[in-house]
Amino acid sequence: MAAIDGLPPLRDVISRHGLNAKKSLGQNFLLDLNLTQKIARAAGGLEGVTVLEVGPGPGGLTRALLANGAEKVIAVERDERCLPALHEIADHYQGRLQIVEGDALDVDFSSLLPGAKVKVVANLPYNIGTPLLVSWLLTEPWPPYFASLTLMFQKEVAQRIVAGPGSGAYGRLSVLAGWRMQSHIAFDVPRQAFTPPPKVTSSVVHMTPRDKPEACAASALARVTQAAFGQRRKMLRQSLKSLGGERLLASADIDPRRRAETLTIEEFCRLARNLPQ
Ligand code: SAM
Repeated sequence: MAAIDGLPPLRDVISRHGLNAKKSLGQNFLLDLNLTQKIARAAGGLEGVTVLEVGPGPGGLTRALLANGAEKVIAVERDERCLPALHEIADHYQGRLQIVEGDALDVDFSSLLPGAKVKVVANLPYNIGTPLLVSWLLTEPWPPYFASLTLMFQKEVAQRIVAGPGSGAYGRLSVLAGWRMQSHIAFDVPRQAFTPPPKVTSSVVHMTPRDKPEACAASALARVTQAAFGQRRKMLRQSLKSLGGERLLASADIDPRRRAETLTIEEFCRLARNLPQ
């Protein structure tokens, strides 16, 4: 890293600030410059862009984002032990790094980003990756405040995000993501690339918002998919019973004997539109 930004190597930063990784905070750090650069590049051009980063930790990815030309990085970190290391980066990149201490699940991101062109880039802590993604997918109004999401997940979660109907990985996340975003897995990252290594392979997913997703209310689609995939092995007339069951399915012209994993996103939207208020 020293060659790129003149800041000390991350290993030194981690040992100087005593940042031994905490499992409870999903801390698996990336110290490989080539990899952090690759993630920054997967987000596309960063010139003139404000990047929202969740969980900067000691700042490896943060530094790659700044070195790759991000106009500004707003980094939300929960672990106060990481703040001194992040302030060193902020001092180096005068005015380009804003550090927000707090739990990303409680932060109103849109209030931090008035009017800016925003890309979200993060090596997410695994324990909050899915709820955070769902909150971005359910953002109102749509199109959202962000131009793209470039996020690291466990590979199995990444596969669920991009899965289509009929596949075992197809579920609530696939429907909510496929409804509003175009997504692809950019590349896999082996466990050994992290310090300490997690149990499984990770993948970086790149997602861009669709301008005009199929019409339906996000909250209604969230309810339908939650119920349908909550009992994914059951027929829809059973799994959707609490939402109107056979009557709801008839109004959306869907065979009540089908199972959630066979429905297209368009069919889920039809159910959501017919959901009683
Ligand atoms: N970005 C760094 C990297 O790539 O090396 C660290 C990534 S590590 C997988 C996840 C980071 O998220 C940790 O720094 C952890 O402290 C932070 N974190 C965990 N839970 C958080 C939360 N609820 N809100 C904000 N940050 C959180």
